[in-house]
Amino acid sequence: MRIKFVAGNWKMNGTLAANQDLLRKLMPDFARIAGVKCAICVPFPYLAQVQQLLSGSGLAWGAQNISQFDAGAYTGEVSGAMLVDFGCRYAIVGHSERRTLFGESSEIVSQKYAAALKAGLTPILCVGETLRERESGTTETVIAAQLDAVTTQCGVQSLAHAVIAYEPVWAIGTGKTASPEQAQAVHAYIRARIGREDAAIAERVQVLYGGSVKASNAAQLFAMKDIDGGLIGGASLDAQEFAAICQAARPAA
Ligand code: PEP
Repeated sequence: MRIKFVAGNWKMNGTLAANQDLLRKLMPDFARIAGVKCAICVPFPYLAQVQQLLSGSGLAWGAQNISQFDAGAYTGEVSGAMLVDFGCRYAIVGHSERRTLFGESSEIVSQKYAAALKAGLTPILCVGETLRERESGTTETVIAAQLDAVTTQCGVQSLAHAVIAYEPVWAIGTGKTASPEQAQAVHAYIRARIGREDAAIAERVQVLYGGSVKASNAAQLFAMKDIDGGLIGGASLDAQEFAAICQAARPAA
């Protein structure tokens, strides 16, 4: 039985004051949520703030990116060891915004995934197809290539220490959510693809859905057999919405 996991991705949003307000509103609701793992992935400059505000709270935190390099002359980069210094447990790798806007190839994503593991962080590996790829019937080919890039470099067993997020690019920030059935079909494919190499890892790995998840659609998505929670962008900036999404991931009584 896989525990559900809900991770917020604040993207490039926030101020010290707004973050404090958001977390202050979230924590009382969050304290009542049991049986679900939850985390927020925040911009680098706010890691110190969330470390201070969330330590001991049960709400974990992480980063939205990580350098593939360990240390040294890499201006502007942030290493896994630095994230660990700030109490991070997670690092998102391969988000479609980084793949498309910042030219991160699957090879770079695999290196970042490896860097996260090496630092003792849990990578949240994002995979997903564009609308054009879906319409041309290549969704599975695209997802397979994104997954295989990582398992070839780091081994399928590495997924025992990782989380996968299926995020159809056409559903991110667009308000268009994949239907529970559409998402379930891809999640089942992801598990089957991993299962060809290691059935036990395939059964155990958490596969989150991301793409316009809201309080109003979370429960139907999370009820699907292979959907183990969500990666939440826009809605994670609203305390009530995010708390309600975390609530929707609670195990049935
Ligand atoms: C995301 O950025 O990972 C995401 C899923 O965004 P949104 O929920 O806003 O679609």
